[in-house]
Amino acid sequence: MGEGRSLSETIVLITGATAGIGAACARRFAAHGARLVLVGRRADRLDCLRHELGESAPIHTLELDIRDRCAVTRGLAELPSEFGALDVLINNAGIALGLEPAQRGDLNDWAATVDTNIMGLLYCTHAALPGMVARNRGHIVNLGSVAGSYPYPGGNVYCGTKAFIHQFSLALRADLLGTKVRVTCIEPGKVESELAHVRFKGDAAKAAAVYADTEPMTPDDIAEAIHWCVTRPAHLNINTIELMPVDQAFNPLAVHRIRN
Ligand code: NAP
Repeated sequence: MGEGRSLSETIVLITGATAGIGAACARRFAAHGARLVLVGRRADRLDCLRHELGESAPIHTLELDIRDRCAVTRGLAELPSEFGALDVLINNAGIALGLEPAQRGDLNDWAATVDTNIMGLLYCTHAALPGMVARNRGHIVNLGSVAGSYPYPGGNVYCGTKAFIHQFSLALRADLLGTKVRVTCIEPGKVESELAHVRFKGDAAKAAAVYADTEPMTPDDIAEAIHWCVTRPAHLNINTIELMPVDQAFNPLAVHRIRN
């Protein structure tokens, strides 16, 4: 958002709008009348969102896989004119696959994670950024994770992609100095969403165990933080926000003890 612009004049593109944090962002920004471009692979979910939110906000949906460089470039270049001048890009789409130690890691899972969390985010950023700089306004919001700062067993490549997103977000700020384009990295801890379902490839019991007997954050908690960052005065940049549920904290560093 530029100086003096209200959310109703703002065009917001959300990747991964079909579930979890992205869907919560779509609902929150729609409630404030923003013009929304909603991106995801599941067309049926995009259609549902358009029907649900279309009364409150102008909605354009883009069914695409952010790993497909050409589809991202073409999809963003060919947005209808009333949705083309993006003010906010929420790079939210992301996956985690498996929880095996690296020595038993599945290379296909690693490639899919890097292609989505890093390359997909880069394709979207590369497509949106020149226009933002030319208009001298815009805001890129990247979804990092506490996993980018605090590794955990089996997190290996997921943790690595989120560390990349943290550092890339800061580096973008360095490049954008002198423009009014803002960059924020949102780094949540445990949020109840479909992420665990995807990580365990549809194993509902394993996914449910991630959230059992605890009170995780909700996607709407994160959407609220993103909305807050985007609606700060135009001279203010929120670099990073790290959020955790009260029920989550840090482990001591692990030590392997040798016994004889
Ligand atoms: P989620 O419920 O699984 O939603 C992920 C979204 O990403 C879905 O809308 C999915 O849509 C989309 N997506 C995945 N791959 C895609 C692709 N190749 N192309 C386009 N869209 C794709 O997960 P979430 O928890 O909301 O996660 C959102 C972001 O927050 C991710 O970047 C995640 O790493 C981050 N995060 C989550 C947590 C957590 O505890 N949940 C914590 C920290 C950070 P389609 O399947 O329809 O394409």
